[in-house]
Amino acid sequence: MNEEILQNIALIQERINNACKESNRNPNEVKLLLATKTVPAERIKMALQTGHTLIAENKVQELKEKYEALKEIPHTNHFIGHLQTNKIKDLLRHNVTCIQSLDRLDLAEKLHQRLQFENKTIEVLIQVNTSFEESKFGTNPDNAIELIKQVAKFDTLKIKGLMTIGLFSAETEKVRKCFRLLKDIQQQIIALNIPNVEMQELSMGMSGDMETAISEGATIVRVGSAIFGQRIYPDSYYWNENLG
Ligand SMILES: *Cc1c(COP(=O)(O)O)cnc(C)c1O
Repeated sequence: MNEEILQNIALIQERINNACKESNRNPNEVKLLLATKTVPAERIKMALQTGHTLIAENKVQELKEKYEALKEIPHTNHFIGHLQTNKIKDLLRHNVTCIQSLDRLDLAEKLHQRLQFENKTIEVLIQVNTSFEESKFGTNPDNAIELIKQVAKFDTLKIKGLMTIGLFSAETEKVRKCFRLLKDIQQQIIALNIPNVEMQELSMGMSGDMETAISEGATIVRVGSAIFGQRIYPDSYYWNENLG
């Protein structure tokens, strides 16, 4: 089991390297994030030994459960799930440096209030629903710029870029359209030169579509099942409001 994790990570690194070669990019520009939902702390520890230390959970509950076990091992925590405002306090207690799933103004407001109170700042990515699927979180692409202008006013929130989940489809060109749209929004925002807004990160691409995402400019790929194996819960459990 654990050997397998190490082999899988080596394979993923190879996929990243190959995808970068294809599109004339430097592999150092693409960070591998380990998506660890449903994975027990012991297995995450194995993965951290490879030197890939950027990990992310989707639920505050899981972040809490694994926190003690992972504490002694140096790593960086991002958050990639739907965040309910009543979980903000708890999330901020568990050493998360970036929330990649900021997708609405009321969440930004509540985060800002709490961060001000704690005299802290946090990095955020704005999650955009580039596939226009109702089941997925993320701001509508048409609203992304307006949302960013609003979030930029909160000085506790450091905007570092954008995140998206591509369409689930075997048709690569349809998936590519999602990633292109994210890149396009990024370019529009850069051109606006909004104070307190940086746009260096494009978090896009997962186990099934990372090559396409890298060719469209991904700087962070989020990989779960190709490293840790298939999950027993359907992803709708994590991505759908009603079931989350
Ligand atoms: C689970 C998850 C991933 C990783 O998905 P895999 O297909 O298992 O690689 C990436 N991003 C988000 C937001 C996720 O919830």
